[in-house]
Amino acid sequence: MPYAPIVKPTRWAVAPNLLDYEAARTPDVWERARRDLQGLPRGRGLNIAHEAVDRHARVLRDHLALRWLGRNGDVRDYTYGDLSALTSRFANVLQGLGIGKGDLVAVLAGRIPELYIAALGTLKNRSVFSPLFSAFGPEPIQTRLTLGKAKALVTTESLYERKVVGILDSLPDLEHVLLVGDDHGPTDVEGTHDYHRLMLAADERYTIGPTAPDDVAIVHFTSGTTGTPKGAVHVHEAVVGHRLTGRLALDLHRDDVFWCTADPGWVTGTSYGIVAPLANGVTSIVDEADFDAERWYRVLEEEHVSVWYTAPTAIRMMMKAGADLVREHDYPALRFLASVGEPLNPEGVVFGEEAFGLPFHDNWWQTETGAIMIANFPALEIRPGSMGRPFPGIEASLVHRRHDGGVDLVEEPGAEGEIALRPGWPSMFRTYLGEPERYAKCFRDGWYVTGDLARRDEDGYFWFVGRGDDVIKTSGHLIGPFEVESALLEHPAVAEAGVIGKPDPVAGEVVKAFVTLKPGFEPSHELERELLGHSRVRLGAVVAPKEIEFAESVPRTRSGKIMRRLLKAHELGLPEGDVSTLEEEETE
Ligand code: ATP
Ligand code: MG
Repeated sequence: MPYAPIVKPTRWAVAPNLLDYEAARTPDVWERARRDLQGLPRGRGLNIAHEAVDRHARVLRDHLALRWLGRNGDVRDYTYGDLSALTSRFANVLQGLGIGKGDLVAVLAGRIPELYIAALGTLKNRSVFSPLFSAFGPEPIQTRLTLGKAKALVTTESLYERKVVGILDSLPDLEHVLLVGDDHGPTDVEGTHDYHRLMLAADERYTIGPTAPDDVAIVHFTSGTTGTPKGAVHVHEAVVGHRLTGRLALDLHRDDVFWCTADPGWVTGTSYGIVAPLANGVTSIVDEADFDAERWYRVLEEEHVSVWYTAPTAIRMMMKAGADLVREHDYPALRFLASVGEPLNPEGVVFGEEAFGLPFHDNWWQTETGAIMIANFPALEIRPGSMGRPFPGIEASLVHRRHDGGVDLVEEPGAEGEIALRPGWPSMFRTYLGEPERYAKCFRDGWYVTGDLARRDEDGYFWFVGRGDDVIKTSGHLIGPFEVESALLEHPAVAEAGVIGKPDPVAGEVVKAFVTLKPGFEPSHELERELLGHSRVRLGAVVAPKEIEFAESVPRTRSGKIMRRLLKAHELGLPEGDVSTLEEEETE
């Protein structure tokens, strides 16, 4: 075991919300969490926007809800009072346009304040919010708007001209386009509305209509790492999970300044970039700019960020930039670091300790689960490389699928199986848009079967092995690419690694690694031999890669996940499949 567990102090500057993990695992977790919400006045139900915004509009009227950092240095502050008024205006705008309960409102924009206001205003109006990542090209936009039968689209003037005008004819359901002028200024584009003009004319009082917990609230498209993205349908009740996971897994306290770096185009950027912090009444930072190590360190310092939620891909990029850069700043407010989206290599956890004096807490969930399901909690020891233990209220198991459609439970510690969750938590998705059969296939013997393989140790910590589709079968052994990638990352020359199974007539598959190098290292036969040797020492001959190829970059989704299926397609000369979520340079 090259990484010792990280045991945290028992005397805390701020006591964690979850001090006793075992005691918190009671059968009535969700029941109590529901009671902890306010609900709409006069028993009219449960609405995400009420819990995130209006609930706080009196008590926290002047408390900072959102601080927006513009790409070019602008700063805009929104208190809970401001947000309540602005989101009411937006709900009135929708109502005025005849957009009502259940109608889908898509938002295609970068991280601008209007996106956050539109999202929450849409939920107030009981319409369905669907975020679209702003870097999508016209085709993925068209597919998603069509699948969702979007009735309204909020976007910016330039995105509209570049990406939407050309597909308008193929969107018969789309009735209204609301444009935010570039630099938030006025617009005058034929066939569209000026967002700000409508907002100015709208009333800032709005009464949220009756909302059932099961009313549809949000449609999120998955990252498309393994294939065509799916539209996961979420309901208002999800806010029960957003609030509680924010409290217990991210340890949000009222005075926190929270920064979730994810874009709302992906589920993390909505569940934790919008709803969870607001539902907990904290201050949330939104940075319009993309990753830049130096800028991020500055934001952490200057904004006094106390809780930070980011992703392995960003952590790896910070590691590549080196720990010296981190030390040019001071982070006295920083208290809790968390990561999600991909397995967090042990080296990443340790980097947190070296750079910030705090380890990263990995947690695991999916678009489908709506909220954090398995996590490293503040008061529990961290085992670097493990994604932690099930969230209180979540029953997680490992299973093997049987041919008859059932599952067998994998009980033995250390044995690998597919992560399965017992349905019934509030933020669970309710279907895949337009694909009810695909949804039905996710359930077996009363379990939601996730498609991810893991091991569980004797203390109940889960260790990610790989996605079902990425796992490598070599000479009768099952190998998860994550383990191999993590070992490669321990070598000082390696910046990133993507590992696949390459078909082989004898072994079935052999392990092949694609590797990018840190600044100052050049590909060479010697380095290749060195990396092969390093892997064999670390992993043993069976698991270590047989082949290493140096690459300029590793293909990733826009949300930062390594797309191993593309590495494999390139290796085999096969078609790439759906690449709508592949990260590439913006072509202007
Ligand atoms: P698609 O389903 O379209 O292929 P996706 O699964 O990448 O895309 P998301 O729902 O955004 O779409 O990502 C969830 C997946 O990300 C999980 O199923 C898991 O494979 C991976 N993941 C998320 N967090 C972790 C983590 N902490 N450790 C390991 N894997 C993680
Ligand atoms: Mg998935």
